[in-house]
Amino acid sequence: MKVLVPVKRVVDYNVKVRVKSDGTGVETANVKMSMNPFDEISVEEALKLREAGAATEVIAVSCGPTACQETLRTALAMGADRAILVETDAELQPLAVAKLLKAVVDKEAPGLCIVGKQAIDDDCNQTGQMLSALLGWSQGTSAYKVTVEGDKLNVVREVDGGLETVVLKMPAVITSDLRLNQPRYVTLPNIMKAKKKPLEILKPDALGVDVAPRLVTLKVEEPPKRKGGVKVPDVQTLVLKLKTEAKVIE
Ligand code: AMP
Repeated sequence: MKVLVPVKRVVDYNVKVRVKSDGTGVETANVKMSMNPFDEISVEEALKLREAGAATEVIAVSCGPTACQETLRTALAMGADRAILVETDAELQPLAVAKLLKAVVDKEAPGLCIVGKQAIDDDCNQTGQMLSALLGWSQGTSAYKVTVEGDKLNVVREVDGGLETVVLKMPAVITSDLRLNQPRYVTLPNIMKAKKKPLEILKPDALGVDVAPRLVTLKVEEPPKRKGGVKVPDVQTLVLKLKTEAKVIE
């Protein structure tokens, strides 16, 4: 079974995101970019399935500009067998990505797609669900634990207040949650090996996908600056301030 793992290039999670002065988006020029953390978890899970003999090949896919090759090389250095870049400079929204991924699935025929729960830049949490709908495949979102049993997949999901187990018939799409696993570190020898692994480049037109955005971003703005706090000498003063100033209690 082939496993397809979409990996998105996003602003590194350690970077303090700055909004562009014209309010059209966030600054990405001269900013450290990395693989979306949930996608690292997906790559790790796919590698574990291959190591356990449940998968035969792990294919990493990224959609976006040429620079996404760097993200794909990271996936290859982690252990993915080969990579596909769907190259475009267009702004990609989740529906467009899901359509591109469906086209890659049609070409590669994997038995499983492990998508990140959400991209930390747009926080959409949509692509995996849209992909599963477009393919007509079963889906297990926010996966906490995954086990393969023949043509079935047991997915333990993180839900409010606990865990839920769903059994999926494969082929399926799962989206990985934070506690699914701890992604492995990339070692220098593996970075060198990754340079020689195959990386195919496809174009949206060749896949027959129209990636034109369907949504318009009206404005992006920073959250209001937090006002400085005050220290109160005792509980009575605190209660008084909560009543008279903050007006959050009566
Ligand atoms: P989102 O729905 O935007 O929050 O993204 C959820 C997941 O979809 C990500 O964690 C990735 O696995 C996948 N994804 C989104 N955008 C891309 C992209 N441009 N290239 C590859 N995978 C993507």
